[in-house]
Amino acid sequence: MNKRDLKRFKEMLLERRNVLTQNKESINEQSVVFSTDDLPDEVDLASSETEQAINLKLRDRERFLIRKIDKALQKIEAGEYGLCESCGDPIGIKRLEARPVTDLCIQCKEEQEARERVFAED
Ligand SMILES: [Zn+2]
Repeated sequence: MNKRDLKRFKEMLLERRNVLTQNKESINEQSVVFSTDDLPDEVDLASSETEQAINLKLRDRERFLIRKIDKALQKIEAGEYGLCESCGDPIGIKRLEARPVTDLCIQCKEEQEARERVFAED
């Protein structure tokens, strides 16, 4: 991968990280709104618990994505970005453009998905 592509992916990753960090702040604000103690009845209480559960889930997902972005940024610094962690082949610019945090080339990813039979978000 050339330096210009690396720089482009680095900027893309940093931008995604920024967006995620900003989202986290807005979710925190929302959860403050939903966790007020003076809700009048059980229905409202139940819905506020649901909102909190959703917020927690979103935050887990964001933490997961931020970790992946940090890992990708470290790889850029180490000069290892864009190489498959499993077979060592170049992952391919098109795949990286679609999923800049990915660790695996498309072949290894398909093999992994076939083994695990779950969809992993990378
Ligand atoms: Zn591979």
